[in-house]
Amino acid sequence: MKKLSAKIQDDDADDWKPAPVPDTSSLAALAKAARSCTACHLYKRATQSVFGEGPKRARLILLGEQPGDQEDLAGKPFVGPAGKLLDRALEEAGINRDEVYVTNTVKHFKWEPRGKRRIHQKPNSREIAACRPWLEAELRLVRPKLLVCLGATAAQSIFGPSFRVTRERGKVLESEIAPRVLATVHPSSLLRQPDEESRQREYAHFVADLRAALKASR
Ligand code: SF4
Repeated sequence: MKKLSAKIQDDDADDWKPAPVPDTSSLAALAKAARSCTACHLYKRATQSVFGEGPKRARLILLGEQPGDQEDLAGKPFVGPAGKLLDRALEEAGINRDEVYVTNTVKHFKWEPRGKRRIHQKPNSREIAACRPWLEAELRLVRPKLLVCLGATAAQSIFGPSFRVTRERGKVLESEIAPRVLATVHPSSLLRQPDEESRQREYAHFVADLRAALKASR
């Protein structure tokens, strides 16, 4: 596992440019190109980039924040605990995960060490801006009927920092980057609920949002 001093991270955090996206109609070519992206400093500490996955003609794109610890190691989006919960909720909502395209706002895992653990850190606006061309390219190629933002980072990257998921969740909204967008919570927020009752309540609300997304994508 790579180690960087805090000094190097701070210096590098301001050093970014828009990701260099190749002119291609192939999602596989995009994913391959993202593997060598150095547009912001996040590539230095991550194991690998984690690009979106799913069919090119998916009606739904699910957009998370960034890969987590397990996604970083596997090179695949939503394979950790939150991904497993997402799979369960998708199935309950009547959505086949194999038919949706799943990706993240930022393609490299941002983390800080705590003992032997790698703790998730929220990507900042510069990192999100640097990574934006990858998302724009995914949207251009897949052209989904609906973009579903999972959590505040994804939703605010689309609608701006004043957007509140709690206020707008479950509604179909317009955006500059995608004509139809629906925001809901990130499945990891369900894992952080303090007790079983709130976990069940929030999970049911999440499934209801996914059902609304399915309906809006038809
Ligand atoms: S996070 Fe995005 S912009 Fe930054 S290096 Fe990774 S792929 Fe490139």
